[in-house]
Amino acid sequence: MPSTIPKTQRAVIFEDFNGPLTLQEIPIPEIQPNEILVNIKYSGICHSDLSTYHEAWGSLTNTKVLGHEGAGIVVAVGSNVTGWSIGDYAGVKLINSTCSQCEYCQQAQEILCSKLTLNGINRDGTFQEYCATDALNAAHLPKHVDLSQIGPILCAGVTAYKGLKTSGARPNEWVAIVGAGGGLGSLAIQYAKSMGLKVVGIDGGEDKASSAKKLGADEFIDFTKVKDVAKEVIDITGGGAHACINVSTSEKAIQQSVSYVRSNGTVVLIGLPPNAKISIDILPTVLRQVTIKGSYVGTRWDTSEAIDIFARGLINCPITVVGLGDVPKVFKLMEENKIVGRYVVDTSK
Ligand code: NAD
Ligand code: ZN
Repeated sequence: MPSTIPKTQRAVIFEDFNGPLTLQEIPIPEIQPNEILVNIKYSGICHSDLSTYHEAWGSLTNTKVLGHEGAGIVVAVGSNVTGWSIGDYAGVKLINSTCSQCEYCQQAQEILCSKLTLNGINRDGTFQEYCATDALNAAHLPKHVDLSQIGPILCAGVTAYKGLKTSGARPNEWVAIVGAGGGLGSLAIQYAKSMGLKVVGIDGGEDKASSAKKLGADEFIDFTKVKDVAKEVIDITGGGAHACINVSTSEKAIQQSVSYVRSNGTVVLIGLPPNAKISIDILPTVLRQVTIKGSYVGTRWDTSEAIDIFARGLINCPITVVGLGDVPKVFKLMEENKIVGRYVVDTSK
């Protein structure tokens, strides 16, 4: 490693589920031959970090550092790595590494690899100044981008974009974005507009309504005020949304979306309320030819596309920048559904 890399760094340490999150000085990780070391400048705070902290993924969790929306600068390159140089801008995603050999990796569907490792879940993530990550799965970022803005694209952005692609919705069709005021929702609105879709955003409160409208939602439904959300969606869209993108954290809202999707339409499941279930009536699902699909982050190629759309100036991340020590405060706001857009940690603060 070059001598400019310090020996220790600041990190938010997560020792126990639901326990204290403390700012500590820890060693800088050593990189493996297949890895790069990224000096994380900014990291988005995703609701999945909060769910990890709340023990939502059980025994899968094995890390002391949360975070998986890191944007920074490469400071060291492993001996087997090609295609990366010191000084490059790099994005650290949820997926750290995959096996590169299984059926799914061979099909470029590496997100389905059973051997994948996950930053901020079973590898130390991006709520630290330096993060080691597999070079093949790190995202190349263009040099002109604002690193604070692009952090959230690495999870929220690509997941929203991939969910929209998965829905099969075509230009000029209606997409309902459920959870439109949050991190994924704010970006889903804009990716949907960039694809020529009409957007009805659903979320709760004045702040989320004005944010969704500002980001391009054609219509907004406040679920805390509107009694019959399904009827409202059906009225606005003239028969139901062609696609429903579920990026809320509410089991009830996800369940409800099945009732206002248009015939031949698709309900995409992205939000992960812990232990949640949906139930569907088989007869109308069959007669109306409704598709229900899960969608998980995005492949390397989905990520490249999401970054390209962002880098062309079509996406504005509505970010609030905080310091590393503010993560517990942000988690509290998130638990209360008070986050509008995305909070981003500046690791130098
Ligand atoms: P967030 O907290 O920023 O946003 C969630 C939004 O849902 C909030 O604005 C909240 O007000 C809204 N909401 C709550 N109840 C609602 C209701 N009844 N109707 C409409 N909206 C409602 O969270 P986020 O970071 O955007 O993440 C959203 C979800 O997506 C989380 O469950 C997260 O774990 C999950 N996620 C999934 C993937 C994946 O690959 N599938 C990737 C990233 C995040
Ligand atoms: Zn995430």
